[in-house]
Amino acid sequence: MTNASEFKNGRVQLELITSQEEATTQLAAFEVIQRCYDLQTMPYRPDYLDTPEWAQRRQMALHDAGYRCQLNARHWRNLEVHHNTYDRRGAELPKDLIVLCADCHRHVHKFIMGDPTTEAAA
Ligand SMILES: [Zn+2]
Ligand SMILES: [Zn+2]
Repeated sequence: MTNASEFKNGRVQLELITSQEEATTQLAAFEVIQRCYDLQTMPYRPDYLDTPEWAQRRQMALHDAGYRCQLNARHWRNLEVHHNTYDRRGAELPKDLIVLCADCHRHVHKFIMGDPTTEAAA
């Protein structure tokens, strides 16, 4: 009887801890989802461009590109990070971004996209 009671208490204790952990995991997951939603819906400029998430992705893109313009490796001044797609804003894949110097960035927007304004993500 004593053993069964201890076992029962032990099990209750275990269940309590498990559900607390689940609650914490669920809360963390909810916060990630909420943050993803915020990143995707906040105004692109200046809000998104001011987020630590974008600062980190931008830095990663610059690092991966060797701090060179990816249209011309001789260009290394005034580097900006251009979005090839905004589909994954807030959770961009490396292929979603390309490092361009300010001049090449302007050219890409003007002549390829037909839009003279750039994100100015420098
Ligand atoms: Zn751009
Ligand atoms: Zn360039």
